[in-house]
Amino acid sequence: MIVLLDKMRITARSDKCVKLSKNHLSFYSKYAFVVLRALRKPLFQRFLCWLLKRENIEERRVRDVQIRMFPLRKENGNVLAGKCNREEGKIFIYPKRLGFCQRKTQELGKETLDFYIQSRARAALIHELLHLKYASNEEKVRELTRKYFRIFSKHRHAKNLDTRNVSKLLFT
Ligand SMILES: [Zn+2]
Repeated sequence: MIVLLDKMRITARSDKCVKLSKNHLSFYSKYAFVVLRALRKPLFQRFLCWLLKRENIEERRVRDVQIRMFPLRKENGNVLAGKCNREEGKIFIYPKRLGFCQRKTQELGKETLDFYIQSRARAALIHELLHLKYASNEEKVRELTRKYFRIFSKHRHAKNLDTRNVSKLLFT
């Protein structure tokens, strides 16, 4: 049973599409497709099924999972990984900024960066799904996100990738 597949889509603010350079647009659209593909992978979908069951989160509570094409900046200047509207059952997943990704590509290589982008989106979705149940208990949600993400990571093959660097980027 593959539950969340039909609810996932890429969305964007059209005014941003008009304003941004070609370079930015192509970067953010590629990013969004990498995320969509990562979230739709059968192995991850099966994992999500298991997670929802285990946490007793009814699948119908999730109505819409939007992979937003452009980053959302927080007040402290950092960008948001995800957001959840519990009443409406809507989840939003946001990308990192172009500048960050360029720097990290130089530092870690393209393959590791792609792996980071996929992991970040998966961790963000797990995190926001848990918010449906645990509301604003951020500490609990963070602790469980780490736990579940670790469980998922054990099931996949990432032998040649810099997993330690990636989890450092994700959880610190
Ligand atoms: Zn949170």
